[in-house]
Amino acid sequence: MNLCFFVDEMLFYVAEYLRIMGYDTIYLKGLDDKEIIKMLINSKKSKKMAVLITGDKNLASVAKNHLVDVFYMYPEKKLFQSYLKELIDKYKLKIKKTTRCPKCNSILLSKRKNELNENELKQAKEVIKRYKLFFICKACKKVYWRGSQWKEMIKKIKSLF
Ligand SMILES: [Zn+2]
Repeated sequence: MNLCFFVDEMLFYVAEYLRIMGYDTIYLKGLDDKEIIKMLINSKKSKKMAVLITGDKNLASVAKNHLVDVFYMYPEKKLFQSYLKELIDKYKLKIKKTTRCPKCNSILLSKRKNELNENELKQAKEVIKRYKLFFICKACKKVYWRGSQWKEMIKKIKSLF
């Protein structure tokens, strides 16, 4: 079954990590609990395994009553690494080949330097000499490359396996 993570507003950094690992991750920004529960139930209907990641005990217990899988994470950045390890172990997560846009959750397509279009070249202008491979978001068209921030995040994830 396909996992789909729903991450509450306080835990935006968790969503970025899960997307970089390639997991479908909805960031629950500006929604009230009722709307969130509705989304979770709809996701279950579409045969996805919905997992709510939240630091909100009330929301967690309502979701559990609707038989949604809940992963409780106290919103404290210091604790994040150990929570992420727990999450990886619990759902047997890995770093997927196809990853997702940290900003909008769409699939990233890889392109070689010489395949970039005008808009993509413009975004990559400053690093174009240093990288051969680029990753373009299908939806928001943002261009990514595997720079120091990406490397740092992947290193952190790998250290948890
Ligand atoms: Zn995007």
